[in-house]
Amino acid sequence: MSDDERGEEYLFKIVIIGDSAVGKSNLLTRYARNEFNPNSKATIGVEFQTQSMVIDGKEVKAQIWDTAGQERFRAVTSAYYRGAVGALVVYDITRSSTFENVGRWLDELNTHSDTTVAKMLIGNKCDLESIRAVSVEEGKSLAESEGLFFMETSALDSTNVKTAFEMVIREIYSNIS
Ligand code: GDP
Ligand code: MG
Repeated sequence: MSDDERGEEYLFKIVIIGDSAVGKSNLLTRYARNEFNPNSKATIGVEFQTQSMVIDGKEVKAQIWDTAGQERFRAVTSAYYRGAVGALVVYDITRSSTFENVGRWLDELNTHSDTTVAKMLIGNKCDLESIRAVSVEEGKSLAESEGLFFMETSALDSTNVKTAFEMVIREIYSNIS
């Protein structure tokens, strides 16, 4: 009997964190709906989007949470983190301050999580090479020292967006199986 017939289900909660305007909401809409909003005025009431993929012939669902803009006030609540088994920590490669704040986001994530969390550091907006302020090397070396996966993405032109989410989902799956 297959796992499916046994009714085995996988549902993973993943959170997206990072400073305001780094592109968190657009990474999610790009992944879940293949959409991009140039003047995204934050999240429209929806707390999360669910996206499925197949691993080892099993359907794995990722429930991906986006903030409703509360990160502007450094007021992301513990409810947001509760039960998360994966996290994308996002900075904007054109704004150094967002990279410098990654450590604070990681601390907050660690404070709120009691299980193994698959974490990926994301340098978003890699389409803006001409105004880059954080080098690929800086991103890589921070990820290495913190034990995170690392990828640069563009929600605008889709670079690595699907790959990044799927890598986190696969890592979560391998953590539990
Ligand atoms: P959030 O506050 O982290 O959720 O960021 P948003 O997704 O709302 O994006 C903030 C701004 O950055 C918006 O104007 C987006 O259009 C823009 N943006 C997001 N991702 C990218 C990207 O990959 N490339 C470029 N050039 N702009 C982006
Ligand atoms: Mg947002």
